Amino acid sequence: MNDKIEKSNSVDSNSIINANNVNTGAEDVNDEDIVNQNLTAEQKEVLFNKGTEPPFSGKFLNYHGNGIFVCANCGTELFDAKSKFESGSGWPSFYEAVDEKSIKTNTDKSHFMVRTEIMCSTCGGHLGHVFNDGPQPTGLRYCVNSLALQVKDKAK
Ligand SMILES: [Zn+2]
Repeated sequence: MNDKIEKSNSVDSNSIINANNVNTGAEDVNDEDIVNQNLTAEQKEVLFNKGTEPPFSGKFLNYHGNGIFVCANCGTELFDAKSKFESGSGWPSFYEAVDEKSIKTNTDKSHFMVRTEIMCSTCGGHLGHVFNDGPQPTGLRYCVNSLALQVKDKAK
């Protein structure tokens, strides 16, 4: 039982070299680290001040094309245009994210409501909110500001 003293072979040369450089970059990317300088003031207000564009004002509300909606700030792929549906809410709505890991959520108790805020998990930019009254198969309604999005062609 006590023969395990020789643990030294678990320390390989790589970890010795890195001993003075422990910052592996594994921490979450800080919100302020990535700010696309091409953003308009309105886009920054939504993305970084949790602003909301007026309903029925967004340029993607009536978008019916193909492609992938990406974060307007950092370009992370967020929603496939195929998952967009008409919610009647006045904001672009999606029932499914491209990858759940690309979006992080946060309980938002502002405006006397309890909602679930959605953010880009890469840059922390505010996107909108997600609700549980969406269509099948997910039952989710991602309600997203057009200002937080860009659309691009699918890579494949
Ligand atoms: Zn982003």
